[in-house]
Amino acid sequence: MEFIEEELKQLKNAGLYRSLKTIEKIDGSRVTISGKEYLNFCSNDYLGLSRHPKVKEKAIEIIREFGFGSGSSRLISGNSVIHEELERKIAKLKKREAAIVFPTGYMANLGAITTLVGEEDAVIIDRLDHASIIDACRLSKAKLLVYPHKDMGALEKILKRLDKFKKRLIVTDTVFSMDGDIAPLAEISELAKRFNAMLMTDDAHATGVIDLDNPADIVMGTLSKAIGSLGGFVAGSRQLIDYLRNKARSFIYTTALSPAACAASIAAIEIIEKEPERIERLRMNSRLLGSETPIIPIIIGDAGKTMEISRKLFEGGIFVSGIRPPTVPEGEARLRITVTSEHTKEEIECLASLLRELIPA
Ligand code: PMP
Repeated sequence: MEFIEEELKQLKNAGLYRSLKTIEKIDGSRVTISGKEYLNFCSNDYLGLSRHPKVKEKAIEIIREFGFGSGSSRLISGNSVIHEELERKIAKLKKREAAIVFPTGYMANLGAITTLVGEEDAVIIDRLDHASIIDACRLSKAKLLVYPHKDMGALEKILKRLDKFKKRLIVTDTVFSMDGDIAPLAEISELAKRFNAMLMTDDAHATGVIDLDNPADIVMGTLSKAIGSLGGFVAGSRQLIDYLRNKARSFIYTTALSPAACAASIAAIEIIEKEPERIERLRMNSRLLGSETPIIPIIIGDAGKTMEISRKLFEGGIFVSGIRPPTVPEGEARLRITVTSEHTKEEIECLASLLRELIPA
């Protein structure tokens, strides 16, 4: 197995070697790593709900009642009233007839895409769609076509030559995970209608963050970011959800989410509904860094240089992760900054001033 050593060496030489940072303590937007406190600017817990007292309380209450593990898949004995209550809440949040939850967002994408398209179909995606969408497309065996980021002319050109396929499915991130920009949903939807294609959106970074008019037939999302919990979902027509429940392999052949994780999501969605000021705070904090979403990329280009700046920020007490290929395209390595509703203005100013020092304009 010499290839392992060789490949690890290659990753290190190219500045692409990955290692884990170990969090010892969390206190609001601050995390302790190796005994030192850092300001965390790379969490997707956009509304700070993972640690909200009501979320914790509800999860603990359900652990007391149900235990932790669900013990089986949803279709055997792993389904509970908590799972179904969560699905109703998601359907309402996404303004759809029904919803289905999966153990993660990754699995929701795998389940939905591999069920909706197969060998005789075509799937068309934005170049910057999430890795789980790409993996799902490959697994589906559908013909995969990729259009340049948000390029509607290119999407139209591709759609024009897909008559011979039985079905067509367009999949786009709503808020792009590594760039923080928003897909032109109205235009994509118009093209989908014109060329008789289904439209699916990945709302992972939009859910609980930004309330967009979403015309998609299939709305996928995750409970692991602004909802502060764990789990993925698909929302849509009652029939679509029934179909996925019957056919999606990543729903059928895996153990159901812990009822406690579902309970945490339910509590978080209730807080989002009752406390819109959280989303307002998040929006204000995003604007402080000149962005309409909480994801702010600073493109450096070179992977090694990106990691060096990330290291320097870390030395200055700020935790911002460097993102390198293959997560982003070659030559587009970047710092991916995320703000949350919990950061103070002073904390954001502290980040901005250190960035100015390390990356002169
Ligand atoms: N889609 C997008 C756009 C994501 O950013 C992520 C999470 N990185 C996922 C899907 C997968 O969600 P999960 O982490 O719940 O598996």
